[in-house]
Amino acid sequence: MSVIDLRSDTVTQPSAGMLEAMAGARTGDDVYGEDPTVNQLEADLAQRLGFAAALFVPSGTMSNLLGLMAHCERGDEYIVGQQAHTYKYEGGGAAVLGSIQPQPLEFQDDGSLDLAQVAAAIKPDDFHFARSRLLALENTMQGKVLPLAYLAQARAFTREHGLALHLDGARVYNAAVKLGVDAREITRHFDSVSVCLSKGLGAPVGSVLCGSEQLIAKARRLRKMVGGGMRQAGILAAAGLYALEHQVQRLADDHANARLLADGLREAGYSVEPVQTNMVYAQVGDRAEALKAFAGERGIRLGAASRLRMVTHLDVSRAQIEQVVDAFAEFSRN
Ligand SMILES: *Cc1c(COP(=O)(O)O)cnc(C)c1O
Repeated sequence: MSVIDLRSDTVTQPSAGMLEAMAGARTGDDVYGEDPTVNQLEADLAQRLGFAAALFVPSGTMSNLLGLMAHCERGDEYIVGQQAHTYKYEGGGAAVLGSIQPQPLEFQDDGSLDLAQVAAAIKPDDFHFARSRLLALENTMQGKVLPLAYLAQARAFTREHGLALHLDGARVYNAAVKLGVDAREITRHFDSVSVCLSKGLGAPVGSVLCGSEQLIAKARRLRKMVGGGMRQAGILAAAGLYALEHQVQRLADDHANARLLADGLREAGYSVEPVQTNMVYAQVGDRAEALKAFAGERGIRLGAASRLRMVTHLDVSRAQIEQVVDAFAEFSRN
């Protein structure tokens, strides 16, 4: 039985072409700056996203942490969404390791932060307060694409208030493909961007932080400090280069599959949120555990939550989505 794993787009296996690229990678010791493939990936992604420099790191969590720590000093503050990965899902790293205070705010329905609320949260220059230093956005945010006009507003707003602007762009390529624009149209508004190669792009490991020369030099020092300096990492960077070359435009297939899944589940009677990219959220109430077990017997891996997240990716085909819809329909009849 072939497994259909919808828990996340992190579960993809490297394709044959990707493995070949990895096996043929030229490598060196990247802590000495001598891995030609890592250097190529960093230069390539910086260029693609319109930045002066970039840094290859083992995970998106580290990439965001280094970005926040490169912008903020001890006692500074970053403003961030309550459900943002950089606040809720990274072990409190910015606070624990960076001594940076988070100021979380509720996201709006479209995945943006209301700039009037952000303005109200900025602390005056007064020694009672942490120093508000940075605004962190996320795109896509639970599958939602931030409007380009909002990004321009956020850029103007942060300039006006003297804040830096960081993007957790774990899935920024999903956003770009959805909008049908070059990813730069999104990233040009930010001082720094973290991109995951290991999500929908399909690489086994790795994220990249992009920013100015100065910011990335600082992040490079911090990467060593937190233990993220890797040696012959070109094997991994080669997978990232392959993904950027061959597996960006195909994200549109994942988005089409997500829509197909959502439509099928709605038809089967489930309440499903509108889909923009590769994430489908369905309300399954208190049957989450039963559904997970039922699906599991049919080779379908799901999480277990009343608001169930299903993520499409390059290892899930259109035919498999149809199988999933059939299984959900059968479950709802029982
Ligand atoms: C996955 C993810 C990260 C972190 O990436 P890891 O490689 O899992 O550490 C950061 N932000 C968002 C939005 C993510 O989905």
